[in-house]
Amino acid sequence: MNIILFGPPGAGKGTQAGILKESLGIPQLSTGDMLRAAVAAKTPLGVQAEKIMKEGGLVSDDIIIGMIDERINQADCANGFMLDGFPRTVAQAEVLDKMLAAKGKKIDIVIEIKVPDEALKGRVVKRANEALAKGEVPRPDDNPEVFGKRLETYWKQTAPVLPYYKGKNLLSAIDGTKQIEAVTVDIKKLIA
Ligand code: AMP
Repeated sequence: MNIILFGPPGAGKGTQAGILKESLGIPQLSTGDMLRAAVAAKTPLGVQAEKIMKEGGLVSDDIIIGMIDERINQADCANGFMLDGFPRTVAQAEVLDKMLAAKGKKIDIVIEIKVPDEALKGRVVKRANEALAKGEVPRPDDNPEVFGKRLETYWKQTAPVLPYYKGKNLLSAIDGTKQIEAVTVDIKKLIA
């Protein structure tokens, strides 16, 4: 099964994908994680992406699509995958469809995790504080200022992807304000 977990930053896409990959037996493909790995490794792509990520903007469609194409071709995606943080623009969604069709694959379901903006802001401050408490360095884009930009980017550039999938009858929405375990149950119900 090929699943898209969709939603604003901080909605819990990564958390849910991390939980579900075990029970569903399919990998989590997070473009944010891939980019953070490139930034840490200081690859040319990472150096280019770092500035954009720190400003809460979007990395170019071409770069992201190339990354995802390469990843989907890997053996562990043969029985399905869960996309987390991709597609983030209508152009990415359109290319994804074409790319999958060329491989004889398709998206089976898009699950929108809904959380109001005010709750998201609180979550990101909490995520940064939790990282600090564990002695880790918080994500540089998990501060209120950059987060405001990330939300703005979501509503301007990413939310327009929702009608795209609605038009294809692939979109389902769930309440992401519930406890983590309850959200997982709701997602599993949709997938079943
Ligand atoms: P995330 O971990 O999904 O919140 O992503 C962190 C940052 O990586 C985003 O704020 C963007 O700058 C960049 N990014 C991740 N996924 C994409 C994507 N599909 N398209 C463009 N930029 C992305």
